[in-house]
Amino acid sequence: EAIHVLKDCGCASPRLDAEVLLSACLKEDRTRFHIDREQPLTEKDYQEFRRLIERRRCGEPVAYIVGRKEFWSLPFEVNSHVLIPRPETEILVEEVLKVCSSLKARNLRILEIGTGSGAISISLAHELKNAQIIATDISQDAINIASRNAQINNAANQISFLSGNLFEPVSGKFDIIVSNPPYISREEYDRLPTGVRDFEPELALRSGADGTSFHREIIKAGSIYLKPGGWIFLEIGAGQRDRVEYMLNASNLYDNIAFRGDYAGIERVSVARRVLTGG
Ligand code: SAM
Ligand code: GLN
Repeated sequence: EAIHVLKDCGCASPRLDAEVLLSACLKEDRTRFHIDREQPLTEKDYQEFRRLIERRRCGEPVAYIVGRKEFWSLPFEVNSHVLIPRPETEILVEEVLKVCSSLKARNLRILEIGTGSGAISISLAHELKNAQIIATDISQDAINIASRNAQINNAANQISFLSGNLFEPVSGKFDIIVSNPPYISREEYDRLPTGVRDFEPELALRSGADGTSFHREIIKAGSIYLKPGGWIFLEIGAGQRDRVEYMLNASNLYDNIAFRGDYAGIERVSVARRVLTGG
């Protein structure tokens, strides 16, 4: 019944969503249903399941309904104050790790701007046990969730969470700056799928008229917060490569500028190294 309801409203993965919501409702693993298929639901569970399906029918993302999303194979709590971490962002994490494995310094200092659920910083902490990370967000509600996620994933001792606008709460120099900033332009925002536009925080998505205003600010700040030879990693939106490449070049602060595409073939991550001298 639930699968039909979700199919009829145009949901892209009705069976998966129905199973995930049923398992959340019963607090049981999804594989159990295939074992206990004939087991009827109690009236209470049935009503609860109907409420969850109704929320999904109205477009709310499954991750917000169940309050959880996996990223980098780690569990993250999510709610409407934070962007649901996207699989594309794992590519950003991969690129940071590639460069870190080539750096000699062991106790890397990493700065993340706009941490949201904490997905990027916590994944990095998980992989780089000696790294010390500062993660910021302008939203105190996001910082609260990110701190909880750091605890859940045993990364709290490696990450300091600070709330504030961009670099305002930050001091010191870093080996790495990483950010998945908001990058949806004014025009694109109106065309986002309703599941994103109506449920995910506007603060996490919108970035000025052309979508690259955060990239501009973060690239500029590299002169203050990056050590010479330090690296900057930014997630970018579809069609933003040329503008971001221009900003990196025009700043005269960076060399080794490169881009990496996601699995849909969209240029998704920009990488650059702060020049060793000058700038
Ligand atoms: N890092 C998370 C991820 O990749 O899933 C969240 C990225 S989300 C696209 C951007 C984040 O930047 C949001 O959590 C938002 O609250 C935060 N943000 C927006 N404006 C900001 C600002 N001026 N200073 C710091 N963070 C900001
Ligand atoms: N990837 C998100 C989306 O497509 C956008 C995230 C961002 O603005 N950084 O909705």
